[in-house]
Parts: sequence; C-alpha cells; structure tokens
Amino acid sequence: YSHHLNRIYVDMLCNFSIRFNWDSSKLAGQPMYVRATTVFSDLAQAEKRVERCFQHAHESSNAMNLSPAVIKNVLRSSREMGTQDVYYCGRPDLADSWYSVLVRLSKPTEHAYHFVCKNSCSSGINRRAIDIIFTLEDAIVGARACSCPRRDILRDEGDIKNKVKTKKPLKVDKQETDMDIVGVRAAISGLRVSLTMMEQARTYKLMMQKHTEAIDRCITHLKALIENLESSLTVKANPP
Ligand SMILES: [Zn+2]
Repeated sequence: YSHHLNRIYVDMLCNFSIRFNWDSSKLAGQPMYVRATTVFSDLAQAEKRVERCFQHAHESSNAMNLSPAVIKNVLRSSREMGTQDVYYCGRPDLADSWYSVLVRLSKPTEHAYHFVCKNSCSSGINRRAIDIIFTLEDAIVGARACSCPRRDILRDEGDIKNKVKTKKPLKVDKQETDMDIVGVRAAISGLRVSLTMMEQARTYKLMMQKHTEAIDRCITHLKALIENLESSLTVKANPP
C-alpha cells in the first residue's frame, strides 16, 4: 500500500484487508453494510462500468456455478462463496448497473477482498487506473435494497456516478463528453449537484456576512457549462 498515492498494489487472487470503523455506540448494535464498488479513476472513463475481461469471466463461468453478478465483478469478498452476509450486486444486462460487493458487518472490523482480474487484462480493465469506492450504509438502506433491489441498486449506483462526476466538476471536457449523448446527461446531473452545493454555500456565506464574489463566479461558470451542455443535447435531439 502506498500512503503517498493512497493506492493498493496487489496481485490478482491475493487477499487484502480493509478496516472499517464507525461509532457503533450510536447505532445500538445495529449492523452496517459496506458496499465496495470499483470505478475507473479517470474522469473521461468514469461513466464506463468496470468489468472482468472475457478470458477470466469465461473461465469462472465454466468452472463454477456462480451468478453473473459474481462472474462479472473484478472484486470479490474473500469469504467463501455463498457465505451469508456477502451480496454481489449489478446486472450484466443493464449497461448502467454497476457491480458492487455488499458486506454486512455487525461491528467495526476488518474485511478481506481480492481482485479476480489484473490491471493489465487486455479486455475489461485494460490498463486503466481503477478506484474502489467504499460506502457505509445503514440497515434502512439494506432493508430497502431487499424490497426493491433493481430500483435501489440503480439509485445507489447513480449516486456513486454523481460523486465521481463531481470530483472535478469544472474540468468536464465538453468535447469529450459531447461524443456520447448518455455521457452529456450524466455530466449535466453531476454539474447540477455541484451547483446546488455552491448555492447552499453561498447562502451560508451571506448569513455569515462574508464576501461571495468568488463563489458567484463559480456559480456563473457552472450555469454556463450546464447551459452549454444542455444546448448540445437540444441540437442533437432536433437536427436542423
Ligand atoms: Zn482478467
């Protein structure tokens, strides 16, 4: 593990443990769910789903009786397959359904994972840098996920996509996202989240009687970006 890069370097099939901490005294012993979702680090790739290469996915689907959500996910819990409290999410048939591993933890503890593909796999990850996003979810989200899994998975994954999009909202490259109509829509929703946050920050600054010039410039810039992207959608939808 490199502290300098905040990056794990690990071989395929080699277990690595992550410690999850939360203040369990405030939750009265209620279990928590940790969702691990693998995403591409690069903003230009952020909308693409990380999935296993053809070769490794093919080997697993032949060798074992695994669900498609397990076969396609590059990340696995190191607990034995079929163990209670480990759930694999994601629908291969829906391009915007991302793969994640959901683990139920009854108290703050370590959990081990391993990768079942390499960065160098020629399809799948294909040498692109990846991040793992860990989200701590409470039992309410877990219960909802059980009653209507598809809607909740899509919503949660949409949230993660927005987070990835808003990492560097001002650097969204219009030319790059312009190539794909789905990409533009996702970029717009990411920018809208940033705009709402900026507007809230502005209200707070006004309340504290602080200057808002810098934040005003940001808001104007964001609005212009959103407008630009929206107009590119209109042009595509109604060709002259
Ligand atoms: Zn592979």
